[in-house]
Amino acid sequence: MRTLLIAGIAAMLFCCATGVARADVAVTAPIESVAGAIATAIADRPVSVRCENDDAWATLAAAGGFGPSQLLGFVSFSDGAPLDYAELSPDVCRSLTGFAAAPAKPTKCVHTQRRVRTVVRTVRGKKLRTTTYVTIARPAEPCFADRYFATAEALQTLAHESIHLKGDPVEADAECFGMQWLAYAAQQLGDSADDAHSIAQYYATQVYPQRQTQSPAYWSGDCRQNGSLDLTPGDGAWP
Ligand SMILES: [Zn+2]
Repeated sequence: MRTLLIAGIAAMLFCCATGVARADVAVTAPIESVAGAIATAIADRPVSVRCENDDAWATLAAAGGFGPSQLLGFVSFSDGAPLDYAELSPDVCRSLTGFAAAPAKPTKCVHTQRRVRTVVRTVRGKKLRTTTYVTIARPAEPCFADRYFATAEALQTLAHESIHLKGDPVEADAECFGMQWLAYAAQQLGDSADDAHSIAQYYATQVYPQRQTQSPAYWSGDCRQNGSLDLTPGDGAWP
């Protein structure tokens, strides 16, 4: 039996499929190389990542009983062992590609600027001229503000599937361990350490908690700092 282990979709179901094959194995997009290296590091064994085009993805999704926009990625297991590649959706690959190419990453897309504001007051007949500094936000280009969720989700999908590639079929594990690799994946795509950490924090605090009610199989109460799913307990860092 071949089982598809999927990441972050609305319908959190295991699904089974056979004969999942790729039409264009000869084509390797640049993001596939980088994502493959990231997955190899996380899985701790040589693996690859495949980015499908929209038509091929629609076919793969239909084989698993999903709509193409529902399915973000999957790893096929055969006889309890993962195959050597993960499939990522075109949307996930586009997000990863855009993120890698952008000189300004998500939390750096809004620049704060200190602007001097002069204030004139009259106190006891004297006009006092004072200055204060006001911080204003100024968007820089390209700005990821409107794509922050999609970017975080794409990075998490890559990390999540990489945990499956390591051999762990449990969704709650893949989601929790993957989240702890999210910042690594972001940095490998050119992000700074602090920004990558911010994205991981965003995922851990804003997205992950929703799993508890929306897709319980992808959530664990042990997925917390110093919990049993903390890969580095006691280091004071999370995720
Ligand atoms: Zn999964």
